[in-house]
Amino acid sequence: MSNNYTSNLHIEKAKTSKINTVDFDNLTFGRTFTDHMFICDFVDGKWQQPKIMPYQAMTMDPSARVFHYGQAVFEGMKAYKDDKGDVFLFRPDQNFKRINKSCARLAMPEFPENYFFEGLTTLVNLDRDWVKPGMGNSLYLRPFAIAIDSAIAAAPSDSYRFMIICSPAKAYYKGTVKVLIAEEFSRSANGGVGFAKAAGNYAAQFYPTSLAQKKGYQQVIWTDADTHTFLEEAGTMNVFFRINDTLITAPISDRILDGVTRKSLIQLAEDNDIPIEVRQIKVSEIVEASKNGTLQEIFGAGTAAVISPIEGFEYKDTYYNLPQIEDHSYSSILKNKMMSIQHNLSEDKNEWRYE
Ligand code: PMP
Repeated sequence: MSNNYTSNLHIEKAKTSKINTVDFDNLTFGRTFTDHMFICDFVDGKWQQPKIMPYQAMTMDPSARVFHYGQAVFEGMKAYKDDKGDVFLFRPDQNFKRINKSCARLAMPEFPENYFFEGLTTLVNLDRDWVKPGMGNSLYLRPFAIAIDSAIAAAPSDSYRFMIICSPAKAYYKGTVKVLIAEEFSRSANGGVGFAKAAGNYAAQFYPTSLAQKKGYQQVIWTDADTHTFLEEAGTMNVFFRINDTLITAPISDRILDGVTRKSLIQLAEDNDIPIEVRQIKVSEIVEASKNGTLQEIFGAGTAAVISPIEGFEYKDTYYNLPQIEDHSYSSILKNKMMSIQHNLSEDKNEWRYE
């Protein structure tokens, strides 16, 4: 289906730009949006003419199915600018494939590949002044799709809307991250939607995460729903553990999101002779490793911060602190390598940059 659409992107440019009203040194993540947005509706069994138009509010019937049954999926990716002013995306093919996997799981129609790439690149080019150069600066891109039928029967919608909006983001430092390992709540289940970027996955995490935050933890590391024995992933990050000199991360499954950062870090570790194991990892293994001094690092990996080093974790009412190994940590080595590729400062032998 993806290739049967001929391109006919319609562009309506904003009459004036808002860019001069934005303080790029003081951005709050996800609150400021660029001048344009991409929009394409699925009606009468097919995707209609894709459009780029001025960023604006839209009206929707209160009965629109997305409001009632959460038939909604999204993506998160970034554009980076180098010092010459060239703009790059990082592995956008991966986000494209993943949103269509998410769509399929939520019984939503897949979006055509040429519409996605033409919409994305035209939009980023139109708003390219919003992509600021400099390490860590980026334009966060949010493709998403929602069910828009005006009908509250609990059934898949007949009509959908696919959009892309863009939000400038600063290099962000979240401060120290302490995590709570889940013992009661679960993020996803076997046969469920954990592998999809379904909106409801995130809503379901807010309450348990707020309980963890009250105890002083910024994130929850989710464990398998059956036994709470195996470490899986964090709220919006996959997780890596370093025991002695070996990095370990959980295999993806129908409960875990196939993170673009995760798979890139696995490749970079292999390229740089860092021992890496993709295997199930028990909570008891990291507790034991922490006790005997072999647990060196834990870090989260995701588009937002690339890598977030974790300072310590709580499990069964005991707090375990991690050693501080700043400069020679795998997290700082791998973060530098990833960011240099993203910002066009180093060779890209895996061909991840997309101009
Ligand atoms: N896990 C979850 C649940 C996420 O929402 C994200 C963010 N997309 C990730 C992991 C990291 O994925 P990526 O590296 O593709 O951003």
